[in-house]
Amino acid sequence: MRVAIIGGGAAGFFSAISAKTNHSNAEVVLFEKTDKPLAKVRISGGGRCNVTHACHGARKLASNYPRGERFLRKAFEQFAVKDTVDWFAQRNVDLKTELDGRMFPTTDDSRSVITALMDEAEQLKIQVRLKCAVIGIERSGDRFQVSLSNDCVELYDRVIVTTGGSPKPETYSWLKALGHTIVPPAPSLFTFNMPADPIRELMGVVVPARVRIIGTDVESKGPLLITHWGMSGPAILRASAWGARVLQERGYNFSVQINWLAGMSEDHARQFLTEHADEFDRKQIGNANPFTLPKRFWSFILNKAGVSSESIWSQIPKKDKNRMIDLLTNDRYEVRGKTTFKEEFVTAGGISLEEVSPFTMQSTVVPELYLPVRCWTSMGSPVASIFKRHGQQAISQAC
Ligand SMILES: Cc1cc2nc3c(=O)[nH]c(=O)nc-3n(C[C@H](O)[C@H](O)[C@H](O)COP(=O)(O)OP(=O)(O)OC[C@H]3O[C@@H](n4cnc5c(N)ncnc54)[C@H](O)[C@@H]3O)c2cc1C
Repeated sequence: MRVAIIGGGAAGFFSAISAKTNHSNAEVVLFEKTDKPLAKVRISGGGRCNVTHACHGARKLASNYPRGERFLRKAFEQFAVKDTVDWFAQRNVDLKTELDGRMFPTTDDSRSVITALMDEAEQLKIQVRLKCAVIGIERSGDRFQVSLSNDCVELYDRVIVTTGGSPKPETYSWLKALGHTIVPPAPSLFTFNMPADPIRELMGVVVPARVRIIGTDVESKGPLLITHWGMSGPAILRASAWGARVLQERGYNFSVQINWLAGMSEDHARQFLTEHADEFDRKQIGNANPFTLPKRFWSFILNKAGVSSESIWSQIPKKDKNRMIDLLTNDRYEVRGKTTFKEEFVTAGGISLEEVSPFTMQSTVVPELYLPVRCWTSMGSPVASIFKRHGQQAISQAC
């Protein structure tokens, strides 16, 4: 049996090793179009490689993904987090769990993962062909005719496609030509641009917030990071993932409503503020902040509400308090465009999940063609690096 693996990323190496381990007589050939196999593994998790997440239970793990929950639940039931941990342990890569659930090699170095995958591929005599792109696959009797960028055409009995995600529709053209339905791809992890909005002066400030995308049912909670271009952090990245489709339809021009008190209700905030004003009636409002918000952020809100930070709490008229409460629980911003978070993006869409078996990853349209993916394990990873930069504790909300 000849097996072609297309793509030398994490999914490609894992597939090649599994194919050869389960079919020791098979000839397994892995094609990688660049000269850098496992390039993304090297940079993942800030160079530490966030291998998986300590979320045991297929249902719970799947519920943390914005789409494809049923498919993922079935897939995770076949190969769970514990299987991943054991798989790496058998290859001398022990994983450790951080406080937020993210799991890294104990070496804190993605090279441990790369070495384990490469060494095993070599030991199993898997042929890794670098700078060799697959440009087409066609059925030829009961085999596949695989066309390569060097003008060669080779025959294989099984083909495993592990080319990773891509937001460009043309990437999927040869899979479409085989009869697959392509769900239009959409970027699914990005930050929000707010050109010219004064909030950007607060870059680096983190506030626990609830974000709602106006006119949709997309809502997320978590730390929000103000950046020099707009907003980022877990609350924003999560909203971008859940709202990927609707935000693409709107051309990334939309309004967001932000509650800067982690979702506290208006009534509760009013009560809190009134009690605070009574208790600290002789203190300057700029120095006696009722919600333990970052000082720079509190000054920004006061300024936006038109309240002098030198005023005494007892002098603040009711209408100013109402304005402050409105800003804290119901602030609004206009988003004009998106930015990818470095190169870390996830693509929604691609081959329809209806056409892939979650049990085997085999295509239901083209027998003996397999379409596995390596799922992004967590939204904790990019967030953690932002937070470390600003000396805050990382809080990962998603598995
Ligand atoms: C900066 C960064 C940080 C990340 N951090 C994390 C993290 O901490 N945790 C996490 O879970 N995920 C993280 N990710 C995402 C993670 O990298 C992906 O989930 C994972 O790499 C996907 O693996 P893959 O094998 O499916 O695809 P890829 O890694 O994209 O591999 C696909 C390979 O196929 C090759 N290829 C494509 N087309 C062809 C063709 N026609 N012929 C031959 N070869 C082809 C490509 O060159 C590539 O090498 C991060 C990504 C980035 C960019």
